[in-house]
Amino acid sequence: NARDILKNELREVLAKGTASSADSAQTGSGSTRPDFGSLEVYYQTVHRAEGGYAASGAEALVRWRHSQRGLLTPASFIPAAEEGGLIDALGFWVLREACKAACKWPVETFVAVNVSPAQLRRPNFAEEVFTVLEETGLPPSRLELELTESSLIEDNSDVYTVLKTLRSRGIQISLDDFGTGFSCLSHLVRFDIDRIKIDRSFVSQLGAKANGAAIIGAIVTLSRNLGISTTAEGVETEYQRDFLTALGCTDLQGYFFSKPVPLRELDCFAKSEGGA
Ligand code: C2E
Ligand code: CA
Ligand code: CA
Ligand code: CA
Repeated sequence: NARDILKNELREVLAKGTASSADSAQTGSGSTRPDFGSLEVYYQTVHRAEGGYAASGAEALVRWRHSQRGLLTPASFIPAAEEGGLIDALGFWVLREACKAACKWPVETFVAVNVSPAQLRRPNFAEEVFTVLEETGLPPSRLELELTESSLIEDNSDVYTVLKTLRSRGIQISLDDFGTGFSCLSHLVRFDIDRIKIDRSFVSQLGAKANGAAIIGAIVTLSRNLGISTTAEGVETEYQRDFLTALGCTDLQGYFFSKPVPLRELDCFAKSEGGA
């Protein structure tokens, strides 16, 4: 079936990348970084609601430039990667690319990287993340890892330890798609979450259904009292931007500000001077 075909193709892409990096390491030529060729990381900016909507950071979103199928979004291949045991290789490649990219952005910005539940289950996950930070030179405080609640629900004490270790070094932890899952409030405190990302489904209800505003308002108030930042996802209109700002969201993200773009098109973090 289609997913199996994709899985095998993705396995090939990842295997080729890993092999070529081993080659170059052996011959001592060039970098030891896997070159996954047809995979590409796009970036979508996140904007601070306070004081004029300057970009505060960007989220890394993976794409696969498939030779026959065109540009694939993650929904079409992340499940295959998870099933096929490929999500670790893919995830670490994205992490490394994102950290390298962010090193060239202004020092006050962050880069956010999505993490699958399967990645978080690896006992060595935190150490592997620290290694990438050391190799790329990105300060831990500039990295944000986006988890979904399903990662936390398993009530795996290993996950708790991994998150604690990550946070102890200053890495930020955010909870993605908030409001769509169990949204167990005790998770926020127990796992010491830094940021909540309010799911697009609530944002798109603004103006249409009264519930959207009530739910977002409640999430924002709760988060503020717990000292947690709130990013509203999927902001598409000026009306939504203004409404979410009035509700007190700390950050906003969505097509209204920018679609995800390739690194070379991420103009807002470009250094204005030629040097450094
Ligand atoms: P997500 O983390 O919730 O990312 C937000 C998704 O919403 C992105 O889809 C983004 O392009 C889209 N989006 C952003 N603003 C708007 C908007 O204003 N309107 C609408 N309609 N959509 C908007 P994308 O890039 O297709 O990614 C889908 C999901 O795939 C992500 O959802 C994330 O869960 C996953 N994903 C992406 N990259 C990675 C990765 O490197 N690793 C893992 N494990 N998952 C990833
Ligand atoms: Ca995300
Ligand atoms: Ca999300
Ligand atoms: Ca989402």
